[in-house]
Amino acid sequence: MQNDTIRALSTTVGRRSFLKMAAVASVFGATSSFASEKVTRAATEEEVKNPFPGSKKVKTICTSCSVGCGVIAEVQNGVWVRQEVAQDHPISLGGHCCKGADMIDMVRSEVRLKYPMVKENGQWKRLSWDDALNRIATKLADLKKKDGADAVQFLGSAKMSNEQAYYFRKFAAFFGTNNTDHQARI
Ligand code: SF4
Repeated sequence: MQNDTIRALSTTVGRRSFLKMAAVASVFGATSSFASEKVTRAATEEEVKNPFPGSKKVKTICTSCSVGCGVIAEVQNGVWVRQEVAQDHPISLGGHCCKGADMIDMVRSEVRLKYPMVKENGQWKRLSWDDALNRIATKLADLKKKDGADAVQFLGSAKMSNEQAYYFRKFAAFFGTNNTDHQARI
């Protein structure tokens, strides 16, 4: 049961955060109090062999950049619980950079941005996509009118494909500026 709690905790907070918490707990002696209260126990042989019963492996890709390296996501009851590299992926051939290796923690992060938000009077609030687009368009038009098109810089993204980068560049040109760059350069 306690092992389930720890496994559930590690599943909820993510591997990296869980390891950080464990390190902090160890510094402050919390692990010894866990041990003395018998909060932990050794996993059974079956649990070691199969820690996520009923899970299935799903082929997917890392979405951090447009290379699209292969990831095997292990999913249990709709929750991504572990990941491996996809050895047979034709592009990445079983390799990852550090962002891909940490994909599971990014996807499960509690601070992951999932919808447009705006900070008003010190508070973050959720926006609809239409509202967000209207606000951005209005702001861009205002800036251009007040300070000229060169007052704006357009920053591309590593997630863009070649075609998206092409459209992005065109969009900046139609707006009236050559101020384009790439997020990775800053
Ligand atoms: S961020 Fe790294 S692992 Fe992810 S697709 Fe790009 S190169 Fe591959």
